[in-house]
Amino acid sequence: MIRVQSVRPDSIAEEVGIEPGSCLLTINDHEIRDALDLMFYEADAKLIVEGTELDGAPVIYDIEKDPNLVLGIVPEPDKVRRCTNACPFCFVKGNPKVEKLRANLYIKDDDYRLSFMFGHYVTLTNLRDDDWERIFEQRLTPLFVSVHATDPQARRRMLVNPRSANINEDLDRLAAGNIRVHAQVVLCPEVNDGPILRRTIDDLYARGSDIISLSIVPVGLTEFNADRGIRGLTRQECRAALEMIDEAREAARAGRGTAWCYAADELFLQADVAVPGADYFDDQELMANGVGAISILRDQVQGDMDRLPRLDGRRIALVTGTSMARHLRELGDDVAAATGALVETVAVVNGLYGPMVTTAGLLGGEDHLRALRRFRDFDLALFSRSALNDDDLFLDDMRLDELQAELPELQICPSEHITETLAKV
Ligand code: SF4
Repeated sequence: MIRVQSVRPDSIAEEVGIEPGSCLLTINDHEIRDALDLMFYEADAKLIVEGTELDGAPVIYDIEKDPNLVLGIVPEPDKVRRCTNACPFCFVKGNPKVEKLRANLYIKDDDYRLSFMFGHYVTLTNLRDDDWERIFEQRLTPLFVSVHATDPQARRRMLVNPRSANINEDLDRLAAGNIRVHAQVVLCPEVNDGPILRRTIDDLYARGSDIISLSIVPVGLTEFNADRGIRGLTRQECRAALEMIDEAREAARAGRGTAWCYAADELFLQADVAVPGADYFDDQELMANGVGAISILRDQVQGDMDRLPRLDGRRIALVTGTSMARHLRELGDDVAAATGALVETVAVVNGLYGPMVTTAGLLGGEDHLRALRRFRDFDLALFSRSALNDDDLFLDDMRLDELQAELPELQICPSEHITETLAKV
Protein backbone atom coordinates (compact mmCIF):
# COMPACT_ATOMS: atom_id res chain seq x y z
CA MET A 1 0.00 0.00 0.00
CA ILE A 2 1.15 3.55 -0.68
CA ARG A 3 -0.29 6.77 0.70
CA VAL A 4 -0.73 9.67 -1.71
CA GLN A 5 1.31 12.67 -0.60
CA SER A 6 0.19 14.98 -3.38
CA VAL A 7 -1.42 14.93 -6.80
CA ARG A 8 0.07 16.89 -9.70
CA PRO A 9 -2.14 19.66 -11.09
CA ASP A 10 -4.00 18.76 -14.32
CA SER A 11 -2.98 15.11 -13.99
CA ILE A 12 -5.04 11.97 -14.63
CA ALA A 13 -5.09 11.35 -10.85
CA GLU A 14 -6.63 14.77 -10.27
CA GLU A 15 -9.17 14.19 -13.04
CA VAL A 16 -10.41 10.90 -11.53
CA GLY A 17 -10.54 12.38 -8.01
CA ILE A 18 -7.56 10.75 -6.25
CA GLU A 19 -6.85 12.91 -3.21
CA PRO A 20 -3.73 13.53 -1.05
CA GLY A 21 -3.96 11.35 2.06
CA SER A 22 -5.86 8.55 0.30
CA CYS A 23 -4.27 5.13 -0.28
CA LEU A 24 -3.61 2.93 -3.32
CA LEU A 25 -3.67 -0.82 -2.75
CA THR A 26 -3.50 -2.49 -6.17
CA ILE A 27 -3.23 -1.72 -9.86
CA ASN A 28 -4.62 -4.44 -12.17
CA ASP A 29 -4.55 -6.84 -9.19
CA HIS A 30 -0.85 -6.24 -8.51
CA GLU A 31 -0.09 -5.12 -4.98
CA ILE A 32 1.43 -1.62 -4.86
CA ARG A 33 4.17 -1.83 -2.22
CA ASP A 34 6.06 1.36 -2.99
CA ALA A 35 6.82 4.11 -5.50
CA LEU A 36 8.64 1.66 -7.76
CA ASP A 37 5.56 -0.58 -8.06
CA LEU A 38 3.48 2.46 -8.89
CA MET A 39 5.94 3.47 -11.61
CA PHE A 40 6.00 -0.08 -12.99
CA TYR A 41 2.28 -0.87 -13.03
CA GLU A 42 0.92 2.57 -14.01
CA ALA A 43 2.61 2.17 -17.39
CA ASP A 44 -0.36 0.16 -18.82
CA ALA A 45 -3.09 1.74 -20.94
CA LYS A 46 -6.03 0.29 -18.97
CA LEU A 47 -5.85 0.45 -15.19
CA ILE A 48 -8.16 -0.80 -12.49
CA VAL A 49 -6.88 0.93 -9.36
CA GLU A 50 -8.11 -0.20 -5.96
CA GLY A 51 -7.69 2.12 -3.02
CA THR A 52 -9.27 3.71 0.00
CA GLU A 53 -10.57 7.25 0.32
CA LEU A 54 -9.71 9.67 3.11
CA ASP A 55 -12.38 8.18 5.41
CA GLY A 56 -11.14 4.63 4.72
CA ALA A 57 -13.99 3.73 2.34
CA PRO A 58 -12.90 1.39 -0.47
CA VAL A 59 -12.82 2.88 -3.96
CA ILE A 60 -12.05 1.65 -7.47
CA TYR A 61 -10.85 3.89 -10.31
CA ASP A 62 -11.30 2.59 -13.86
CA ILE A 63 -8.78 4.47 -16.02
CA GLU A 64 -7.96 4.39 -19.73
CA LYS A 65 -4.96 6.42 -20.76
CA ASP A 66 -2.02 6.78 -23.10
CA PRO A 67 0.55 4.23 -21.80
CA ASN A 68 3.21 6.95 -21.99
CA LEU A 69 1.38 9.08 -19.46
CA VAL A 70 1.82 8.71 -15.71
CA LEU A 71 -1.04 9.13 -13.25
CA GLY A 72 0.54 12.16 -11.57
CA ILE A 73 0.64 10.76 -8.04
CA VAL A 74 3.45 11.70 -5.66
CA PRO A 75 3.50 8.98 -2.98
CA GLU A 76 4.75 9.48 0.55
CA PRO A 77 8.45 8.54 0.78
CA ASP A 78 9.10 4.80 1.07
CA LYS A 79 10.83 3.32 4.07
CA VAL A 80 14.39 2.89 2.82
CA ARG A 81 16.24 -0.42 2.92
CA ARG A 82 19.01 -0.21 5.49
CA CYS A 83 22.61 -1.12 4.94
CA THR A 84 23.99 -4.22 6.67
CA ASN A 85 27.67 -3.36 6.19
CA ALA A 86 30.07 -1.68 8.58
CA CYS A 87 32.57 0.10 6.32
CA PRO A 88 35.19 1.91 8.41
CA PHE A 89 34.97 4.88 6.00
CA CYS A 90 31.17 5.11 6.22
CA PHE A 91 29.86 8.67 5.96
CA VAL A 92 27.47 8.06 8.87
CA LYS A 93 30.41 7.31 11.13
CA GLY A 94 31.98 10.46 9.70
CA ASN A 95 29.16 12.68 10.89
CA PRO A 96 30.07 15.27 13.51
CA LYS A 97 29.08 14.37 17.05
CA VAL A 98 26.36 16.98 17.25
CA GLU A 99 22.59 16.68 17.47
CA LYS A 100 22.01 19.27 14.84
CA LEU A 101 22.43 17.42 11.57
CA ARG A 102 19.50 16.74 9.25
CA ALA A 103 17.91 13.51 10.44
CA ASN A 104 18.39 11.56 7.19
CA LEU A 105 22.17 11.95 7.46
CA TYR A 106 22.10 9.29 10.16
CA ILE A 107 20.43 6.72 7.88
CA LYS A 108 22.68 4.14 6.26
CA ASP A 109 20.64 3.28 3.18
CA ASP A 110 21.51 0.54 0.72
CA ASP A 111 18.37 0.39 -1.38
CA TYR A 112 18.33 -1.21 -4.85
CA ARG A 113 15.11 0.66 -5.66
CA LEU A 114 16.89 4.00 -5.18
CA SER A 115 19.75 2.64 -7.25
CA PHE A 116 17.42 2.07 -10.20
CA MET A 117 15.35 5.24 -9.75
CA PHE A 118 18.01 7.77 -8.72
CA GLY A 119 21.44 6.24 -9.38
CA HIS A 120 22.39 5.59 -5.75
CA TYR A 121 25.26 3.11 -5.49
CA VAL A 122 24.38 -0.10 -3.60
CA THR A 123 26.43 -3.05 -2.40
CA LEU A 124 23.88 -5.89 -3.06
CA THR A 125 24.74 -7.41 0.34
CA ASN A 126 21.25 -6.97 1.78
CA LEU A 127 19.26 -8.49 -1.10
CA ARG A 128 16.76 -11.23 -0.21
CA ASP A 129 15.48 -13.78 -2.71
CA ASP A 130 12.31 -11.75 -3.32
CA ASP A 131 14.45 -8.66 -4.07
CA TRP A 132 16.41 -10.56 -6.69
CA GLU A 133 13.14 -11.82 -8.22
CA ARG A 134 11.78 -8.28 -8.33
CA ILE A 135 14.95 -6.93 -9.97
CA PHE A 136 14.49 -9.42 -12.81
CA GLU A 137 10.68 -9.23 -13.03
CA GLN A 138 10.63 -5.44 -13.18
CA ARG A 139 13.84 -5.28 -15.22
CA LEU A 140 15.58 -2.81 -12.92
CA THR A 141 18.41 -2.00 -15.29
CA PRO A 142 20.87 -0.42 -15.04
CA LEU A 143 21.78 -0.67 -11.36
CA PHE A 144 24.63 1.30 -9.77
CA VAL A 145 26.84 -1.05 -7.75
CA SER A 146 29.66 -0.33 -5.29
CA VAL A 147 31.98 -3.14 -6.32
CA HIS A 148 35.09 -1.68 -4.62
CA ALA A 149 37.13 -4.84 -5.33
CA THR A 150 36.58 -8.10 -7.16
CA ASP A 151 39.05 -9.67 -4.75
CA PRO A 152 36.67 -11.17 -2.15
CA GLN A 153 38.98 -10.60 0.80
CA ALA A 154 39.64 -6.97 -0.04
CA ARG A 155 35.92 -6.32 -0.46
CA ARG A 156 35.16 -8.05 2.79
CA ARG A 157 37.73 -5.92 4.55
CA MET A 158 36.08 -2.79 3.22
CA LEU A 159 32.45 -3.69 3.88
CA VAL A 160 33.06 -5.79 7.01
CA ASN A 161 30.27 -8.14 6.01
CA PRO A 162 30.76 -11.83 5.10
CA ARG A 163 28.14 -11.54 2.34
CA SER A 164 30.24 -8.94 0.57
CA ALA A 165 32.69 -11.60 -0.62
CA ASN A 166 30.08 -12.85 -3.13
CA ILE A 167 30.42 -9.89 -5.47
CA ASN A 168 31.53 -11.92 -8.48
CA GLU A 169 28.59 -14.31 -8.09
CA ASP A 170 26.24 -11.35 -7.64
CA LEU A 171 27.52 -9.76 -10.85
CA ASP A 172 27.13 -13.13 -12.66
CA ARG A 173 23.56 -13.32 -11.44
CA LEU A 174 22.73 -9.78 -12.63
CA ALA A 175 24.31 -10.50 -16.01
CA ALA A 176 22.32 -13.73 -16.38
CA GLY A 177 19.16 -11.69 -15.80
CA ASN A 178 20.21 -9.04 -18.36
CA ILE A 179 20.65 -6.37 -15.70
CA ARG A 180 23.49 -4.02 -16.61
CA VAL A 181 25.65 -2.23 -14.09
CA HIS A 182 27.42 1.09 -13.53
CA ALA A 183 30.22 0.04 -11.16
CA GLN A 184 32.12 2.14 -8.65
CA VAL A 185 35.29 1.70 -6.65
CA VAL A 186 35.91 3.77 -3.53
CA LEU A 187 39.68 3.68 -3.46
CA CYS A 188 41.29 3.03 -0.08
CA PRO A 189 45.10 2.94 0.20
CA GLU A 190 46.65 -0.44 1.06
CA VAL A 191 43.23 -2.08 0.83
CA ASN A 192 41.97 -2.02 -2.76
CA ASP A 193 44.56 0.06 -4.65
CA GLY A 194 47.65 -1.23 -6.51
CA PRO A 195 47.34 -4.82 -7.77
CA ILE A 196 43.83 -5.19 -6.29
CA LEU A 197 42.65 -2.19 -8.32
CA ARG A 198 44.33 -3.58 -11.42
CA ARG A 199 42.52 -6.89 -10.95
CA THR A 200 39.20 -5.13 -10.31
CA ILE A 201 39.52 -3.09 -13.49
CA ASP A 202 40.52 -6.16 -15.54
CA ASP A 203 37.76 -8.38 -14.09
CA LEU A 204 35.06 -5.79 -14.68
CA TYR A 205 36.27 -4.96 -18.19
CA ALA A 206 36.26 -8.66 -19.03
CA ARG A 207 32.51 -8.70 -18.34
CA GLY A 208 31.99 -6.72 -21.56
CA SER A 209 28.81 -4.70 -22.02
CA ASP A 210 27.31 -5.98 -18.73
CA ILE A 211 29.40 -3.32 -16.98
CA ILE A 212 28.51 -0.01 -18.61
CA SER A 213 31.03 2.12 -16.75
CA LEU A 214 33.48 2.08 -13.88
CA SER A 215 33.97 5.18 -11.69
CA ILE A 216 36.90 5.40 -9.30
CA VAL A 217 36.48 7.73 -6.34
CA PRO A 218 39.07 8.38 -3.61
CA VAL A 219 37.92 7.53 -0.09
CA GLY A 220 36.52 10.58 1.68
CA LEU A 221 37.19 10.81 5.40
CA THR A 222 36.17 13.39 7.92
CA GLU A 223 37.65 14.41 11.25
CA PHE A 224 35.29 11.89 12.88
CA ASN A 225 36.06 8.64 11.02
CA ALA A 226 39.72 9.14 10.18
CA ASP A 227 40.82 6.88 13.06
CA ARG A 228 38.92 3.75 11.99
CA GLY A 229 41.75 1.94 10.18
CA ILE A 230 41.52 3.61 6.76
CA ARG A 231 43.63 6.61 5.84
CA GLY A 232 43.33 9.02 2.93
CA LEU A 233 45.32 8.57 -0.30
CA THR A 234 48.60 10.39 -0.73
CA ARG A 235 49.25 12.48 -3.83
CA GLN A 236 51.53 9.75 -5.18
CA GLU A 237 48.89 7.05 -4.62
CA CYS A 238 46.34 9.16 -6.48
CA ARG A 239 48.76 9.63 -9.36
CA ALA A 240 49.47 5.88 -9.50
CA ALA A 241 45.73 5.17 -9.66
CA LEU A 242 45.27 7.76 -12.43
CA GLU A 243 48.01 6.07 -14.45
CA MET A 244 46.28 2.71 -14.08
CA ILE A 245 42.96 4.26 -15.07
CA ASP A 246 44.55 5.88 -18.13
CA GLU A 247 45.88 2.51 -19.28
CA ALA A 248 42.43 0.98 -18.89
CA ARG A 249 40.86 3.90 -20.79
CA GLU A 250 43.29 3.52 -23.66
CA ALA A 251 42.52 -0.18 -23.99
CA ALA A 252 38.78 0.46 -23.71
CA ARG A 253 38.82 3.21 -26.34
CA ALA A 254 40.67 0.92 -28.73
CA GLY A 255 38.54 -2.10 -27.90
CA ARG A 256 35.03 -0.67 -27.59
CA GLY A 257 35.12 2.97 -28.60
CA THR A 258 34.42 4.45 -25.17
CA ALA A 259 36.78 5.19 -22.32
CA TRP A 260 34.54 3.15 -19.95
CA CYS A 261 36.65 3.89 -16.85
CA TYR A 262 36.46 7.32 -15.20
CA ALA A 263 38.34 8.94 -12.33
CA ALA A 264 36.28 11.22 -10.10
CA ASP A 265 37.21 14.90 -10.05
CA GLU A 266 38.42 14.50 -6.48
CA LEU A 267 41.09 12.00 -7.58
CA PHE A 268 42.58 14.63 -9.91
CA LEU A 269 42.33 17.29 -7.21
CA GLN A 270 44.06 15.11 -4.63
CA ALA A 271 46.70 14.12 -7.19
CA ASP A 272 47.24 17.81 -7.98
CA VAL A 273 46.73 17.05 -11.65
CA ALA A 274 44.64 19.24 -13.99
CA VAL A 275 41.02 18.08 -14.21
CA PRO A 276 40.38 17.05 -17.85
CA GLY A 277 37.76 18.52 -20.18
CA ALA A 278 34.28 17.13 -20.70
CA ASP A 279 35.37 14.73 -23.48
CA TYR A 280 37.18 12.65 -20.81
CA PHE A 281 33.78 11.55 -19.50
CA ASP A 282 32.15 10.50 -22.83
CA ASP A 283 28.37 10.75 -22.51
CA GLN A 284 28.22 9.07 -19.12
CA GLU A 285 26.09 10.93 -16.63
CA LEU A 286 27.96 10.14 -13.44
CA MET A 287 28.07 13.66 -12.03
CA ALA A 288 26.16 12.67 -8.89
CA ASN A 289 29.19 10.54 -8.07
CA GLY A 290 31.56 13.51 -8.41
CA VAL A 291 32.66 12.35 -11.85
CA GLY A 292 32.90 15.16 -14.41
CA ALA A 293 31.25 17.87 -12.30
CA ILE A 294 34.10 20.37 -12.66
CA SER A 295 34.39 20.03 -16.43
CA ILE A 296 30.61 20.32 -16.81
CA LEU A 297 30.62 23.49 -14.69
CA ARG A 298 33.52 24.88 -16.72
CA ASP A 299 31.76 24.12 -20.02
CA GLN A 300 28.50 25.61 -18.76
CA VAL A 301 30.09 28.87 -17.68
CA GLN A 302 32.40 29.27 -20.66
CA GLY A 303 29.71 28.19 -23.15
CA ASP A 304 27.22 30.73 -21.80
CA MET A 305 29.43 33.80 -21.45
CA ASP A 306 27.49 35.69 -24.13
CA ARG A 307 24.28 35.35 -22.06
CA LEU A 308 25.77 37.19 -19.10
CA PRO A 309 24.42 40.69 -18.46
CA ARG A 310 26.66 43.69 -17.75
CA LEU A 311 27.02 43.95 -13.98
CA ASP A 312 29.42 46.89 -13.79
CA GLY A 313 30.13 47.95 -10.24
CA ARG A 314 28.46 44.88 -8.67
CA ARG A 315 30.48 42.95 -6.10
CA ILE A 316 29.95 39.19 -6.31
CA ALA A 317 31.26 36.48 -3.99
CA LEU A 318 31.46 32.87 -5.28
CA VAL A 319 31.43 30.59 -2.23
CA THR A 320 32.87 27.08 -2.47
CA GLY A 321 34.83 24.36 -0.67
CA THR A 322 38.61 24.44 -0.60
CA SER A 323 39.11 21.81 -3.35
CA MET A 324 37.08 23.66 -5.96
CA ALA A 325 38.38 27.15 -5.18
CA ARG A 326 41.22 27.17 -7.70
CA HIS A 327 38.89 26.19 -10.56
CA LEU A 328 36.20 28.61 -9.51
CA ARG A 329 38.74 31.43 -9.27
CA GLU A 330 39.63 30.94 -12.95
CA LEU A 331 35.96 30.94 -13.92
CA GLY A 332 35.36 33.96 -11.66
CA ASP A 333 38.02 35.88 -13.62
CA ASP A 334 36.19 35.04 -16.87
CA VAL A 335 32.86 36.15 -15.36
CA ALA A 336 34.44 39.40 -14.13
CA ALA A 337 35.85 40.13 -17.60
CA ALA A 338 32.48 39.44 -19.26
CA THR A 339 30.29 41.40 -16.83
CA GLY A 340 32.44 44.18 -15.42
CA ALA A 341 31.64 43.01 -11.87
CA LEU A 342 34.19 42.52 -9.14
CA VAL A 343 34.17 38.74 -8.56
CA GLU A 344 35.88 37.13 -5.60
CA THR A 345 36.07 33.41 -4.82
CA VAL A 346 35.56 32.52 -1.17
CA ALA A 347 37.17 29.19 -0.21
CA VAL A 348 35.41 27.96 2.94
CA VAL A 349 37.14 25.58 5.35
CA ASN A 350 34.63 23.00 6.56
CA GLY A 351 33.93 23.59 10.24
CA LEU A 352 31.23 20.93 10.42
CA TYR A 353 33.19 17.86 9.25
CA GLY A 354 36.70 19.27 9.60
CA PRO A 355 39.16 20.62 7.03
CA MET A 356 39.69 17.19 5.41
CA VAL A 357 36.28 17.59 3.80
CA THR A 358 36.77 19.99 0.94
CA THR A 359 33.63 19.81 -1.24
CA ALA A 360 31.09 22.62 -1.40
CA GLY A 361 28.10 20.30 -0.97
CA LEU A 362 29.19 19.32 2.56
CA LEU A 363 29.49 22.84 3.96
CA GLY A 364 26.99 23.71 6.67
CA GLY A 365 24.93 26.88 7.03
CA GLU A 366 27.22 28.04 9.84
CA ASP A 367 30.23 27.58 7.54
CA HIS A 368 28.62 29.83 4.93
CA LEU A 369 27.70 32.38 7.58
CA ARG A 370 31.19 32.47 9.08
CA ALA A 371 32.77 32.97 5.64
CA LEU A 372 30.28 35.53 4.34
CA ARG A 373 30.50 37.77 7.41
CA ARG A 374 33.80 38.92 5.90
CA PHE A 375 32.03 39.93 2.68
CA ARG A 376 29.23 42.10 4.03
CA ASP A 377 30.16 44.91 1.66
CA PHE A 378 29.44 42.66 -1.35
CA ASP A 379 26.04 42.78 -3.15
CA LEU A 380 25.62 39.16 -4.02
CA ALA A 381 26.90 35.75 -2.87
CA LEU A 382 26.45 32.57 -4.94
CA PHE A 383 26.99 29.16 -3.37
CA SER A 384 26.43 25.57 -4.52
CA ARG A 385 22.80 24.47 -4.51
CA SER A 386 24.10 21.00 -3.52
CA ALA A 387 24.67 22.30 0.04
CA LEU A 388 20.87 22.44 0.49
CA ASN A 389 18.17 19.80 0.38
CA ASP A 390 14.81 20.23 -1.39
CA ASP A 391 13.46 22.06 1.68
CA ASP A 392 16.31 24.62 1.58
CA LEU A 393 17.97 23.19 4.69
CA PHE A 394 21.74 23.01 5.09
CA LEU A 395 23.31 19.86 6.54
CA ASP A 396 23.45 21.46 10.00
CA ASP A 397 19.71 22.18 9.87
CA MET A 398 20.14 25.91 9.25
CA ARG A 399 17.49 27.20 6.84
CA LEU A 400 18.42 29.32 3.84
CA ASP A 401 16.14 32.13 5.08
CA GLU A 402 17.93 32.04 8.47
CA LEU A 403 21.26 32.56 6.69
CA GLN A 404 19.76 35.37 4.63
CA ALA A 405 18.33 37.03 7.77
CA GLU A 406 21.80 37.04 9.36
CA LEU A 407 23.24 38.88 6.34
CA PRO A 408 20.47 41.26 5.23
CA GLU A 409 22.79 43.52 3.24
CA LEU A 410 23.89 40.65 0.97
CA GLN A 411 21.70 38.86 -1.60
CA ILE A 412 22.38 35.14 -1.14
CA CYS A 413 21.64 32.81 -4.05
CA PRO A 414 21.98 29.02 -4.19
CA SER A 415 23.17 28.25 -7.70
CA GLU A 416 23.35 25.19 -9.93
CA HIS A 417 24.44 27.14 -12.93
CA ILE A 418 26.47 30.32 -12.37
CA THR A 419 25.64 32.04 -15.64
CA GLU A 420 21.91 31.28 -15.36
CA THR A 421 21.83 32.61 -11.81
CA LEU A 422 23.69 35.79 -12.78
CA ALA A 423 21.45 36.31 -15.80
CA LYS A 424 18.49 36.54 -13.40
CA VAL A 425 19.88 38.89 -10.71
S1 SF4 B 1 27.80 0.55 2.36
FE1 SF4 B 1 29.35 1.21 3.82
S2 SF4 B 1 29.56 3.39 3.41
FE2 SF4 B 1 27.62 2.77 2.50
S3 SF4 B 1 26.09 3.11 4.11
FE3 SF4 B 1 26.78 1.01 4.30
S4 SF4 B 1 28.40 1.06 5.84
FE4 SF4 B 1 28.08 3.16 5.13
